[in-house]
Amino acid sequence: MIAIPQASPARRVARYRAEIDAAIDEVLETGRYVLGPRVEQFEEAFSAYLGAAHCVGVNSGTDALALSLRALGVGPGDEVITTALTAAGTAQAILHCGARPRFVDVNPFTRCIDPRAAEAAVNTRTAAIVPVHLFGQPADMTELLRIAARHALALVEDCAQAHGATTQGRRVGTFGNVAAFSFYPTKNLGCIGDGGAIVTNDASLAFKLKMLRCYGWRDDERISEALGFNSRLDELQAAILIVLLRHLDEGNSERRALATRYRKLGSLGFDLPPDDPGAVYYQFAVACDRRDVLRTYLSEEAGIATAVHYYPALHQQPAFQTDSPVALPETEKLARRLLSLPIQPEVAAPDFERIIDAVERGARL
Ligand SMILES: *Cc1c(COP(=O)(O)O)cnc(C)c1O
Repeated sequence: MIAIPQASPARRVARYRAEIDAAIDEVLETGRYVLGPRVEQFEEAFSAYLGAAHCVGVNSGTDALALSLRALGVGPGDEVITTALTAAGTAQAILHCGARPRFVDVNPFTRCIDPRAAEAAVNTRTAAIVPVHLFGQPADMTELLRIAARHALALVEDCAQAHGATTQGRRVGTFGNVAAFSFYPTKNLGCIGDGGAIVTNDASLAFKLKMLRCYGWRDDERISEALGFNSRLDELQAAILIVLLRHLDEGNSERRALATRYRKLGSLGFDLPPDDPGAVYYQFAVACDRRDVLRTYLSEEAGIATAVHYYPALHQQPAFQTDSPVALPETEKLARRLLSLPIQPEVAAPDFERIIDAVERGARL
């Protein structure tokens, strides 16, 4: 019997239910349901929050990445350097625009792409680097920017797990040419369905992205100037995102406070995420040798759900196989050892002592 879920979007909705209900009512009454004033209002609010010039709301995080790569001209024959310790969408987006993912290893401490491995993988076909700010931990943007500039590569940040994270005094999503966000319900900023956004300081890229998300239309004349997609954000999701964006910093600081309390687990011999004040802890993942034993104990004996992100890593999944298999030792080791404990504030805060006690008991098995 699971008493404590790993995450619960319903509990976040319940917490802000009055504001969300009011926002939904307004949309239902206007009768404008797909793209429209609330999408525009959200795009303005989100780009202002991040400190970026433009935001384009789309269907999902995967589409946000795929359209970004396409708008940058990445396509068949190109390689895109990325990590294999990430959600499937990161690499699926690369394949969807006709390019090939070139997986490189992660830094075992940050669990994000290792800049040296990324630079070593650059060749004449390389078009872009897609770092992932995994679990809300900012990747090493200083080094990645340097590498992108040195080799004239596009830099596309996968910010699907890092809404509001900062590094060097700036929000992630403002470093690359473009950044992709997902609003899948469990994310730090999540809607009640699928949603995503692309953020950029490049006006011409934003213009192209708006065409790509809606049939290649340039404006209200509805003439397809280019091949586009249907990847629009709807008004209902945008209205809910406007509400939840107001509470994002609150949720993120609660996640940080929980992460601080989780750090006592370091005494059990677990490897913890870096203690980075800019991280926003989409997950709090500990690395331990007997991961599966602990996970089973927590679920069966203590009623606490956990999650494994990600096993197997993408380079070992069928959709991402290439002619020459790669070995990524740090990624593979983390894929075997990482366990994501509950950290969504509405889930973890009320039962925190119970979770810690159970993990301490499970670790001694
Ligand atoms: C969730 C996620 C995606 C995909 O987002 P969707 O909205 O589910 O398409 C991509 N990359 C990362 C790192 C994610 O966590």
